[in-house]
Amino acid sequence: MGKTRVRFAPSPTGYLHVGSLRTALYNYLFAKKNGGDFILRIEDTDRSRYVEGAVEKVISSLEWAGLFYNEGVYATKIIGDDKKTVVQSITYPNTFEVGECGPYVQSERLELYKKYAEQLVKEGKAYYCFCEPERLEEMREKQQKDKKAPMYDRYCLQNMTEEQINEKLKENCPATIRLKVPRSEEIVFEDMVRGKVSFNTNNIDDQILLKSDGFPTYHLASVVDDHLMKITHVLRAEEWLPSTPKHILLYKAFGWDMPIFAHLPQLLSVDKKKLSKRMGDVAVEDYINKGYLKEAIVNFVALLGWNPGEGSVQEIFSMDELIEKFDLAKVHKAGAVFDIKKLDWINAQYIKKMSVDEIYQNALIYLKQKEFYKTWAQEKGAGDEKTKEEFVKKVLTIEKDRLAKFSEVGENNKFFFQEIEYDKELLRWKKNSDAETKQALETAIKVLEKISDADWTLKNLEEKLLEAAGEKRGDLLWPLRAALTGEQKSPSPFEVAWVLEKKETLSRIEQALKLF
Ligand code: GLU
Repeated sequence: MGKTRVRFAPSPTGYLHVGSLRTALYNYLFAKKNGGDFILRIEDTDRSRYVEGAVEKVISSLEWAGLFYNEGVYATKIIGDDKKTVVQSITYPNTFEVGECGPYVQSERLELYKKYAEQLVKEGKAYYCFCEPERLEEMREKQQKDKKAPMYDRYCLQNMTEEQINEKLKENCPATIRLKVPRSEEIVFEDMVRGKVSFNTNNIDDQILLKSDGFPTYHLASVVDDHLMKITHVLRAEEWLPSTPKHILLYKAFGWDMPIFAHLPQLLSVDKKKLSKRMGDVAVEDYINKGYLKEAIVNFVALLGWNPGEGSVQEIFSMDELIEKFDLAKVHKAGAVFDIKKLDWINAQYIKKMSVDEIYQNALIYLKQKEFYKTWAQEKGAGDEKTKEEFVKKVLTIEKDRLAKFSEVGENNKFFFQEIEYDKELLRWKKNSDAETKQALETAIKVLEKISDADWTLKNLEEKLLEAAGEKRGDLLWPLRAALTGEQKSPSPFEVAWVLEKKETLSRIEQALKLF
């Protein structure tokens, strides 16, 4: 076999499904790993499903994810001797193309499909069908009543003479072309993920290849294109597995070499149901909008159906590592569970590695939409942007290691931005009395007052407070932490005091003291 060539062949239905991103990613990784080509083909022959702007969305999502293809349709073109001028495409389907096997948009290849379908008719491997929808519907209903699988009854194949057919064609009667599926044959193929798969042709309907409007069906278009585009491996979602014997029959009818197939496992929700739009977000865009990092999404999607195996516990992979380690033989058959908690965990690992400045840049757009932040920023006054930025960055320093996504910044620690409503009981450590609690807060004030603004560092705060607390840490630190946060759970009092700075820290403790 020559150079490895794979393709991602989405139908432009409006958004990029996370499952489609996985298919694109596995194709990309497989191509890169094998020094092959990765092709983008737009399968837009089902006009009823076409959504405006969908092709552009696919293209931009692939680009965003870093899945660069070397053939297919592109939204932008780079020209000029210096390769610097970027020309935006007009709009789909006037996209730019790169590659020898175009057009890469199926609706621009209609003549080709017609030619190949007619060739099969001439060779007696396919036939015209003039049955009207009403007749087909009646036939289907009867089959259903008789509990038989819905199959075309070959009326046109068995009852029409060549003259009758030519007559109808001359009169421009609506006609489809159907594949004459041989009976009682076993179609067996080796799937790179699923192993040996077999189907009996008795269960396969005489597929429509060309519809009466001149558009091909998915089966014909996919096989003709995969052949003409010299595709060596077809990696696609498991839902296409039942289509594969139909495709194999077409390859046989044409006398073409077959590609190798690999059907990727289904994506399941946490309760093991097929992942669908009803259960929540399935579009890649939804996750981008929620503030997940590209690297984390790609990393997460890569693990939906694959892991390096052999005792490896690695779960964080850069794109280069994925290219190096990805192996189709290690893709599993069983459905892959789409667990958002895992995505959160992976995202958190990436955030941990980022600098506070980077996190700030990413988080600010989310923060600015939150009520608690808006109110706080307004109270601080419009002019003092620098102080606000410094304060938020301090909050981020504390939150960084516990942050799953940018949209969460401040969410679990609103007390940094808001006044606290004190609950006396929350200030009490275990069964301590009012007097003991009061004394703890007073001790905290005494210790903290002695630390100057210049010495107000995390290290100093921790050292001095621990020293004052001695053996019974909870007696001092719990009331202090509760006074600073008003929360059952929060970062440590040292961290909170460091962010709040001396003045605000002391003022919060004073407020809490008023309850005693
Ligand atoms: N157009 C199909 C889809 O949207 C492609 C299936 C295939 O890869 O053959 O999933």
